[in-house]
Amino acid sequence: MDLRVIGCHGGETPKHRTSAFIVNDVLAVDAGSITSGMTIEEQSKLDICLVSHSHLDHIRDLATLADNRCQMRCAPLVIAGIKETLDALRDHFFNNLIWPDFSKIPGDEQPTIVYQELPPEVDTKLGRFTVRPIPVSHTIDAVGFIVDDGERSLGYSGDTGPTDKLWHHLNQQKNLGALLIEVSFPNSEQAMATASGHHTPRTLAEDLAKFRNPADLAAFLYHIKPVFQAEVERECARMKGVSLQVMKLQDHFVL
Ligand SMILES: [Zn+2]
Ligand SMILES: [Zn+2]
Repeated sequence: MDLRVIGCHGGETPKHRTSAFIVNDVLAVDAGSITSGMTIEEQSKLDICLVSHSHLDHIRDLATLADNRCQMRCAPLVIAGIKETLDALRDHFFNNLIWPDFSKIPGDEQPTIVYQELPPEVDTKLGRFTVRPIPVSHTIDAVGFIVDDGERSLGYSGDTGPTDKLWHHLNQQKNLGALLIEVSFPNSEQAMATASGHHTPRTLAEDLAKFRNPADLAAFLYHIKPVFQAEVERECARMKGVSLQVMKLQDHFVL
């Protein structure tokens, strides 16, 4: 499995981009920086975009991606997520007010985007991938994903604080290559993290201990708030008995 990092931060500056990851060149996991960080040709190759939840830092570049792909007459992009997320996109984003309804443009027969609803905790086949959304603990309905390409699988936490179902599913996953897991705030900002449904290094350590063998899990950290980047990295570097790596823009992994 090929994994490229387009955006891996919990905020934006010229050096920080919001969440977007590309699997095998064709499947995007979240769309925070999918046009600001990808060439037109790369954007045209995408078939599927999984959306973990409807917060802006995970959906924003779907707007500009749809616009670009519409002009290239690309095949419809499958936007896949749980019902609550897709309803939010339809009602509040691609609603002909904030942005055109690209599920009807250029025409009903060949739209730019199609929505695919994913039932939670169930496998759905999408192209050559199998995708399972797993509800996590955030301020709105949100999921993580397990994405399997038939050889390896990838876990993705989405935005979450301490959570249990995700670990239940990960513990049963046999071909797990890596887990992308969020950590947003330093320990000193625990109150903010709890209120906003995010991890600090302290709660991340407690959650990683829910995995069957934490030292064997390749955990890639993302969604650090730019303001706290150095502090969070220092605190994560002190964690013992785990295999952690802070993701960087343009990282490329073969799992
Ligand atoms: Zn969020
Ligand atoms: Zn976020």
